[in-house]
This record gives sequence, structure tokens and C-alpha cells, in this order.
Amino acid sequence: MPLMSSLKILGLGAAFITVGLKGLDWLLALHHRPGRGSRQPLNEVLFFPSLPACVEHLYNPDRSHSCACPLPHGLNTSFTKLLEHLLSACVSLDICLFSFSNTELSRAVLLLHSRGVRVRVLTDRNYMAITGSQIGILRKAGICVRHELVITMHMHHKFALLDGRKLITGSLNWTLTAIQSNKENVIVTEEPELVRPYEREFNNLWKANDPAKHLP
Ligand SMILES: [Zn+2]
Repeated sequence: MPLMSSLKILGLGAAFITVGLKGLDWLLALHHRPGRGSRQPLNEVLFFPSLPACVEHLYNPDRSHSCACPLPHGLNTSFTKLLEHLLSACVSLDICLFSFSNTELSRAVLLLHSRGVRVRVLTDRNYMAITGSQIGILRKAGICVRHELVITMHMHHKFALLDGRKLITGSLNWTLTAIQSNKENVIVTEEPELVRPYEREFNNLWKANDPAKHLP
């Protein structure tokens, strides 16, 4: 084989190998790209106050509804997003709240309870008794509620854990005033490094406030 032809063949071979390796790099990068194969954890920030909007469709997602209420329909607000996240719980819902008087969020919690979701509520002993508090309604429905047994400080947390993997937390109490009239923030996250400490805190508070341990 003449020398020039051999060099050309060698050059062509090297070009194919280079293209091949680049293709392999591209495939590996594609495979390891976040969001492909390994799903990115959910992170969402919601700010309040939220515009009033109809939320009936969130309770009946399969039914094409024709709601006649006076609220605007089809709006995607901070509150509809919050409610949508809450209703996504399938197995468990752990709520740790200072004040809970919002009837729409209470309706969602009752619905989850009726679906068989294990609901536990930790709340503030004084605030659970105020007018409009939903705690008594949740208790009557058979939901397990605990409050601080030794009152040395307020139970001032505002967080919820869904299925042990989604955390909802921020400044927002679950009250109509907070939702419609206050400047508030909420973070919804599935970051395990954030979810796990909240899970531990909830379980510690739940155990520490077990009424069975405080019998005389
Ligand atoms: Zn409506």
C-alpha cells in the first residue's frame, strides 16, 4: 500500500474514534443529566396574600364541574397551589401548627382522613380553643390531635409533612387572615436534607406530648 494511502486510512480511523468518543461523552452526559432518570426534588416558593378563587375543582378533579359560586374560576393562586399540595398526600399527613382556623384547609384534611390517610395534628394548647379553630372539628372526626402538655412556651411551628417526603413550611398559619390579608411565605420542598429534620422534630414532639405518659 502506498504510504499516502496508509496515512489517509489511519487519519480516517482516528477521526472515527474521536467522533465515537465524543458521541459516548454526549450519551454519558445525557444519562447523568439531572432530571433524567433521577427526578429533581420539588422546590416551590409561595407568597401570600393570595387572591380569593374557587377551589372546588381540586376536590373533584375527575368531574367536569360547573360551579356557580361567585368566586373567580380557573385561577392558579398561591392558595390553590398550597391546597393542591396538601391534597396530594396518599399515606400520611403530619401537621404542626400554631393556629388552624381555615375551613378550606380543614375540609382538605378531613377529606384525606376519610380517604384513609393517617393524619396527626400537633397544635398550640391555648390557640386550639379560640373561636373558629378547626381543631375540635378534626378531633370529632377521629383525627389524633396532641398539644403541649407542659405549657412553658407556645407551639409556634407552621409545617406539614406529606407521606414523609414533602415538606410545607413558612410563616403561614392556616387561617383566612394569614392567607388573604397577610404578607406570608411558604416553601414546599422534597429535599430529603430538609424533610428529614422536620420529620424527626415532629416525631420527637409527638412522643413528648403523648397524654399516656403524663397520666397522674
Ligand atoms: Zn366555584
